[in-house]
Amino acid sequence: MLEMETKLAALKARLAEISDLDHAAAVLGWDQATYMPPGGAEARGRHLATLAKLSQEKFIDPAVGKLLDDLRSYEESLPYDSDEASLIRVTRRDYERAIKVPPEFVGRFSAHGAASYQAWTEARPTNNFARLRPLLEKTLDLSREMANFFPGYEHIADPLIGFADYGMKAASVRALFAELRERTVPIVQAITSQAPAEDACLKKHYPDAGQMAVSELIIKRLGYDYKRGRMDKTHHPFTTEFSIGDVRITTRVQENWLGDCLFSAIHEAGHAMYEQGVDKAYEATPLGSGTSAGVHEAQSRLWENVIGRSRGFWEYFYPELQKTFPEQLEDVSLETFYRAVNKVERSLIRADADEVTYNLHIMLRFDFELQMLEGKLAVKDLPEAWHERFQADFGLRAPDDRDGVLQDVHWFAGLIGGVFQGYTLGNVLGAQFYAAALEAHPEIPDDMWQGKFDTLHAWLIENIYRHGRKYTAEELVQRITGDPISIEPYIHYLREKYGELYEI
Ligand code: ZN
Repeated sequence: MLEMETKLAALKARLAEISDLDHAAAVLGWDQATYMPPGGAEARGRHLATLAKLSQEKFIDPAVGKLLDDLRSYEESLPYDSDEASLIRVTRRDYERAIKVPPEFVGRFSAHGAASYQAWTEARPTNNFARLRPLLEKTLDLSREMANFFPGYEHIADPLIGFADYGMKAASVRALFAELRERTVPIVQAITSQAPAEDACLKKHYPDAGQMAVSELIIKRLGYDYKRGRMDKTHHPFTTEFSIGDVRITTRVQENWLGDCLFSAIHEAGHAMYEQGVDKAYEATPLGSGTSAGVHEAQSRLWENVIGRSRGFWEYFYPELQKTFPEQLEDVSLETFYRAVNKVERSLIRADADEVTYNLHIMLRFDFELQMLEGKLAVKDLPEAWHERFQADFGLRAPDDRDGVLQDVHWFAGLIGGVFQGYTLGNVLGAQFYAAALEAHPEIPDDMWQGKFDTLHAWLIENIYRHGRKYTAEELVQRITGDPISIEPYIHYLREKYGELYEI
């Protein structure tokens, strides 16, 4: 037994060094997206590539594989959910994935991703799909090549979906989405057949400083710990973790749109509270972060939408907001403001979509990913396929590709496949977790009216955050609710909230 403990300590020491390299890279990435002058870009790319290479080499070292093999009997002798068995299990899963992808491919893929991202930043503003087409064709080839390092799949997208949402497959996501679509479309139709909500109150002039101050005040009150984090500005808001004691977020400000800064801040604070809530014992190991794209997105969307766009939340915070922006909001009633932040409409841009229509944007992208990987949809036909599907789903046609197929960065910076389903899984899981929290603590909505958010926060830490990557998404849902992943709580939530708002 002592021998096993020595081996586990040796494994942890190696994993800590790898974690240090990855977190040093995260600091450089954060700096690149916030304060780095443009002149730093070229060298920064090199710094990041060197750290990524060192980290990868250290991890796929056969010595790691040997330690994992030696520890197998020890793992099997321990309870499944013990910290030690979980660490060995999750590390083995990561290791077996990592050794299947040749370092030569990793280098090729990352160089292509950087070139493609750079081209996208230039070609999107000028609506130039033709320039991106050959790059996207290569991305599709590389995505297929990546999937084929993991033979034995049912669907070629399965390995790619599994990277972000371990345990999910094309078939399971497709079934969930089909059900969700069938139940959502009638709600969208019922709402959009009515007069749209008035949201002019959000489009006045709101100075930058006031938006940042009120966003900071709100996320602190929700439970984001400023002693272990900070908020800066970027083009595309994100969360990044350097350690459990330093989890940073970013937001952006549009002075003529109140919704962007505030809801981006709440969204990212939701991601960050998850990372801040991981058990300190998992620091510098593969267990020390959120478990999947879907569960992560469930945390950000729960705080942003279920809480941040609820009536109780604004009963409490609206007077505070009016104090910050007296001229803009003194004549705007709470009811008008509440309806404005919950306006539902068929719109072109996914990132700005409301919580009712949002999933339709994701389903379109997910279906196209599968069709492209299957070889049924060619990259050259993508722009027109986009317009046709958008017309069918939303009754709208984007004026150009910029607000059509070029709007999201994902396919231009990474893989085609596995990158979009997490958003909708997040909406579904967030509602399922919230329903479980309400069952345990029916006082949560009343607490909110008093500005008290710690009951919910403590429940999330206890049931989700602290476990890090110990459990998969499906295991977490099963442990918390006793049921598999289900859309019912989400549909129930939409019907209750929007049924009242729109009298449907
Ligand atoms: Zn997010």
